[in-house]
Amino acid sequence: MSLFSAVEMAPRDPILGLNEAFIADTRSNKVNLGVGVYFNEEGRIPLLRAVQEAEKVRLQAAAPRGYLPIEGIAAYDSAVQKLLFGSDSELLAAGRVVTTQALGGTGALKTGADFLKRLLPDATVAISNPSWENHRALFESAGFNVENYPYYDAASNGSDIKGMLEKLNSLPARSIIVLHACCHNPTGVDLSNDEWKQVLEVLQARDHVPFLDIAYQGFGDGIYEDAEAVRLFAASGMNFFVSSSFSKSFSLYGERVGALSLVTASREESARVLSQVKRVIRTNYSNPPTHGATVVASVLNSDELRAMWEAELGEMRQRIRDMRISMVDKLAALGAARDFSFVKQQRGMFSYSGLTADQVERMRAEFGIYAVGSGRICVAALNNGNLDVVTQAIAEVIR
Ligand code: PMP
Repeated sequence: MSLFSAVEMAPRDPILGLNEAFIADTRSNKVNLGVGVYFNEEGRIPLLRAVQEAEKVRLQAAAPRGYLPIEGIAAYDSAVQKLLFGSDSELLAAGRVVTTQALGGTGALKTGADFLKRLLPDATVAISNPSWENHRALFESAGFNVENYPYYDAASNGSDIKGMLEKLNSLPARSIIVLHACCHNPTGVDLSNDEWKQVLEVLQARDHVPFLDIAYQGFGDGIYEDAEAVRLFAASGMNFFVSSSFSKSFSLYGERVGALSLVTASREESARVLSQVKRVIRTNYSNPPTHGATVVASVLNSDELRAMWEAELGEMRQRIRDMRISMVDKLAALGAARDFSFVKQQRGMFSYSGLTADQVERMRAEFGIYAVGSGRICVAALNNGNLDVVTQAIAEVIR
C-alpha cells in the first residue's frame, strides 16, 4: 500500500482558487480584485526603476553567490532597522534591536513564531478578527493556540476598539498579540494614534508580547508615518517583535525579502537572543537568499536610488488613493443604494467593501469581477480602464 494512500486533499487556498477561476474565465472584460498585489495603471506588476538600477550594478559586478551569514546581509539588516525605528532611534544606538533577514514577511512571522514557541510554549496567540488568512495557520503550525480579538466594526465600517481592548484585557497574561502596524489586511481600517496608545497601555498592563506585522509600509500615509506604531512601542520600553516585508513596497513579491526584528532590554541580551534566532533559521533553511536583499540594501543605502524609490512608492500610494476617491465618486454618481465614502478613509491596498458573499458571487457570475467572499477588494487592482465596469457592477448587485 502506498505510504500516501490515506493522505487527504487539503482545502484549497480560497484566494489562489479565486485566481485559478479568474484565469479560466474567458470574458474579455473580467477584473480580478481578489489578489493582494499592486498593479499599475496598465494592470501590470511594476518593476521599479530603482530596482532596475540596482540590478544593473549588481549584474555588472558579477558578484559570486556564496552563502550569506545566517542572519543575512548586515547592510540590509541595519537599513531595515532604520526604516522601522527611525535613523535617530535610541534603541538602535543602544544595540537593543536584533534584526535578521527573512523569507518575506511570512518567513519573518514563522521565524518569530518558532522562537516564541521556545520562549513561551504555552502562550495563547491572538490575531485580529478578521486578519490576513495566513496568520492563524502560521501560528497554529508553530504549535500555538490561536484566538481572535474583535477589530472590525461592520456597522460603522471602522474599528471596534472597545471590543478589542476588552478581549486583550481578558486574555491570559503574557499572551502574544499580533497587530497590523498599518494598512490592515483585509479591512483597510487602521487604529488612530490615540487608539494605539490605549492598546499599548493594556498590553503593558497585561504583560502581553506585541508582535507587529508591517507588510505595507509606505502604502498608507508615507514611509515614516506608517511606522508610527513601531516607534510608539519602541518608546514604551517593552520587548516586542516586528515582521516586515518589502514584497509590496519594492514590488519584489517573488524575491522573498523581509525581516524579523526583536526589541531586547540591552546589547548583551541582543547577543544572546540573536544566537538563538540564528539556531531557528539554521534548522529551517540555513541562510537567506542573496538577490532581493542585496538590491533593497543598495537602494536604501544610496541617496540617489533611495530618492527614486521613495518617489515610486509615493506614486503607488497616490494611485491607490486616487482609485479610492474615483470609486466612491463614481458610485455616488451612479446613485448607488449605499454611501461608500468610508472607502476613502481606509488605508493600504485593501478595502472591506461591505459587499456580502452573495453580492460578491453575483459580481463574478454576471460581470466577471472577482473579489474575496468576505467583500475584500484590492483597490490596487483598480485602474481607469476597469473602474466603470466595477462600479456599475457594485451598484447593480446592491440595488
Ligand atoms: N502580513 C500581512 C498582513 C500580509 O498581508 C502579508 C502578505 N500579503 C504578509 C504578512 C506576508 O508578506 P510576504 O509576501 O512578504 O511574505
